[in-house]
Amino acid sequence: MESAVNAPVSPRLGENFASVRASIEGAVRRAGRPTDSVTLVAASKTVAPETLEEAIALGHRTFGENRVQEAVAKWPAIRERHPDVRLHLIGPLQSNKAREAVALFDVIQSLDRPSLCKALARQCAEQGRSPALFVQVNIGEEPQKAGIAPVETTAFLEACHEVYGLVISGLMCIPPAGQSPAEYFDRLAELAERNGIPALSMGMSGDYQLAIAHGATHVRVGTALFGSRT
Ligand SMILES: *Cc1c(COP(=O)(O)O)cnc(C)c1O
Repeated sequence: MESAVNAPVSPRLGENFASVRASIEGAVRRAGRPTDSVTLVAASKTVAPETLEEAIALGHRTFGENRVQEAVAKWPAIRERHPDVRLHLIGPLQSNKAREAVALFDVIQSLDRPSLCKALARQCAEQGRSPALFVQVNIGEEPQKAGIAPVETTAFLEACHEVYGLVISGLMCIPPAGQSPAEYFDRLAELAERNGIPALSMGMSGDYQLAIAHGATHVRVGTALFGSRT
């Protein structure tokens, strides 16, 4: 796989990254925030390893995966060549995958229940690793969606700390589809502020500039970078 290090970069991927980076910079500037205050997490579910190498060749280093199994299959080999890649888990985590998740990810954004706190705390202790943890909030209170209910978030954050000894550094949400996300972004920002949580992961391809205007520190962008998933 030596050749992959110098993978040719497809013009479209280069344009997409340049355009998303420029949009982020614009949104950050308009919000009057420091330039480095927003991290672009490239949501790379279903994206092939060759394309990930191209994104790395373009200088990108932070990626988000939805499924532990897919990430375990794709990333260890790439990371041997690029140890500075940072991986976020942005999809649901089953407790029986906690071991693999703690071993692989730098950030776990989908902490959403006490049983997972317990599994993660145990794995962090066993492995001597401590990925940054974000709590996923079901900000639209949708029955089919994962996440802690907004009204329960403060108590859950307290339990993370007091019962499980976990430091929570961020909140994450996926607002309801087909509605203006602005009020949901504000609600998440309010919950974070009230609980002294510094990071806010919100905003995807369709609304990341708006999310930045509402305080996002992490945007998770897939389609706008890699094209539509088939
Ligand atoms: C796929 C995914 C994204 C990226 O969505 P796009 O609309 O393709 O930018 C962001 N967050 C999560 C949790 C995802 O699963």
